[in-house]
Amino acid sequence: MKRKPKIPKTGFFWHVHHDELFEWCHNYDLRVEHILKKPSHEIKRRLRLFKPVQNVPRELKKLIKEFQNSGSNYAWWELEQWFKTYYPEMEALHKKECPRCPWNGKTLFPERTD
Ligand SMILES: [Zn+2]
Repeated sequence: MKRKPKIPKTGFFWHVHHDELFEWCHNYDLRVEHILKKPSHEIKRRLRLFKPVQNVPRELKKLIKEFQNSGSNYAWWELEQWFKTYYPEMEALHKKECPRCPWNGKTLFPERTD
């Protein structure tokens, strides 16, 4: 009997935060716990859209591997600056992998006014 593939606990995920397109997620379960503490009317949307990136660009995978093998000699925020260079590619991918998404380039809650 085949086992259902498990959602990876770490990796690139769409919308780890409501104001980010994608990020490296260190701990999926921990992030879900945080989301469950958000305002109740936001939880459903956040959980629906917080999901693994299926087709992570090869260069991005390489970047993470190099970082992990380096013994983290450089800071995480430096790596995140590199992620930004992949934005155009990731935005195109996002359209395919994240249908019915209210993301407007800045937030998952474009209707929110605060
Ligand atoms: Zn989305």
